[in-house]
Amino acid sequence: MDIKKQFIDGKWVLARHNNHREIINPFNKEIIATVTEGDDADAKDAIAAARKAFDYGDWSLLTINERCGFVRKIADLVERDAEELAELESLDTGKTMEESRWDMEDIAGVFRYYADIADKSEGEVISSPIPNSTSQVVYEPIGVCAQITPWNYPLLQASWKIAPALVAGNTLVMKPSEITPLSTIKVFELLEEAGIPAGVVNLVLGAGNVVGEELSSSIDVDLISFTGGLETGKRIMQSATSNVKKIALELGGKNPNVVFADADFDIAVDNALNAVFFHAGQVCSAGTRIIVEESIHDTFVAALVKRVKNIKLGNAFEESTEMGPLISEEHLQNVIDYVETGKKEGVTIAVGGSRPTDDILQKGFFYLPTVLTNCDTSMYVVQEEGFGPVITVETFTTEEEAIKLANDSKYGLSGGVWTKDLAKANRCVRKMRMGTVWINDVNNYFPQAPWGGYKQSGFGRELGKTGLEEYQEQKHIFTNLQPEAMNWFGKQDNSIS
Ligand code: NAD
Repeated sequence: MDIKKQFIDGKWVLARHNNHREIINPFNKEIIATVTEGDDADAKDAIAAARKAFDYGDWSLLTINERCGFVRKIADLVERDAEELAELESLDTGKTMEESRWDMEDIAGVFRYYADIADKSEGEVISSPIPNSTSQVVYEPIGVCAQITPWNYPLLQASWKIAPALVAGNTLVMKPSEITPLSTIKVFELLEEAGIPAGVVNLVLGAGNVVGEELSSSIDVDLISFTGGLETGKRIMQSATSNVKKIALELGGKNPNVVFADADFDIAVDNALNAVFFHAGQVCSAGTRIIVEESIHDTFVAALVKRVKNIKLGNAFEESTEMGPLISEEHLQNVIDYVETGKKEGVTIAVGGSRPTDDILQKGFFYLPTVLTNCDTSMYVVQEEGFGPVITVETFTTEEEAIKLANDSKYGLSGGVWTKDLAKANRCVRKMRMGTVWINDVNNYFPQAPWGGYKQSGFGRELGKTGLEEYQEQKHIFTNLQPEAMNWFGKQDNSIS
């Protein structure tokens, strides 16, 4: 049996306890690969390798130009193998090839962006208030970084973590989601091909509550960067207290998309669909809450429903497919239960609300794109992240009410506002408590701008300059150019007996 291996200390290895896991195609439940299944012993090996590589300076003591050179090479290799990586991503996650190809472009761009900014990261000279002295701030790597990624954007999320960690001079241990490890395994082959020294980048495969737990509690890990669900994030925060490791958490979202009556109607409808149905709604920033001005509610919902009925579900590899399956049997059941809860709460199913009946789609983890109306903020389906192709619709009559509704959430990842009145849009987004807000747009992100959450959507930022700073310590170096004795302690004083 061909078992895909982990990458520890520069070698491809099977898990110490010889366990393995089958990886399933969510389109038809076929087994697409078998991967070795690591546990805490493998995580310890990987941490030790990363620790040794960091402490011996195999990476951190390279010049910045050398490190950035390696990272540019990774970008080249991702571009070279983009199609193969996209195919693995679509096979493993079910998202359409078009979406996966976008991801690969973004991933190469992220590696290139961090290589381009890191060698211009300048430190700071401070005007010292002490005579005859200099004061400067330099940036240094943090040490061994553990990085844990989710299943919805396996490689994209990995690149947001690997690229800044490497240019900053850290070593790392990556743990991808146990159900979608294939593209990350392939990218580690590219890291090896790029010539990254042994021990600098390590990959451990395995379950979150085993490998992930070891990474978050280990006292030899200096930083943990996690992208995933809120409850897992809370656990990781607790485990990370072991050695007060630095933490960055990118968690969930239940993101409002506010549509005013004066928005361009057709464009707002089109983007309300884009906001939710990419990757079957399994997107942290999905605009799953439509908050629409009451005067256009009926026409807006009618237009949504008409378009939703035409969405083509199917195989990621067919060009006509617009939406793929959900990731797993378990997650499909979560989405079914979520909508059932909505029904009990009194929502109206405007369209969808069940599994498709088509024979082919029955073989995979498909759920129909769904619009729920008559929703309000007291409801579970409005407050909790469903992570499926489900829109809830609420209404408002005033600008103040729209903002109040948008902010009525424990999450604060992203939000959108649709109106032709840009002054109104600006007023709204400045009051919306979210890390990213879009005016007349949805789901746009790029390497130059920071990404992260307010409230329980997490803390820390990825992407942008801040995404690099997350992986840097700041050190203040003070130099006294003309030291003098202070004569405070133990000096001879004949007046005291
Ligand atoms: P999850 O929390 O179940 O798992 C994420 C990762 O954590 C996986 O690798 C998993 O194995 C690991 N894990 C699980 N238990 C762990 C533990 N006790 N200790 C350490 N690691 C553990 O999340 P998921 O279902 O894979 O992903 C979906 C979630 O991710 C959604 O909530 C989504 O909003 C969020 N997400 C957020 C962003 C963002 O940028 N904010 C991006 C993508 C996904």
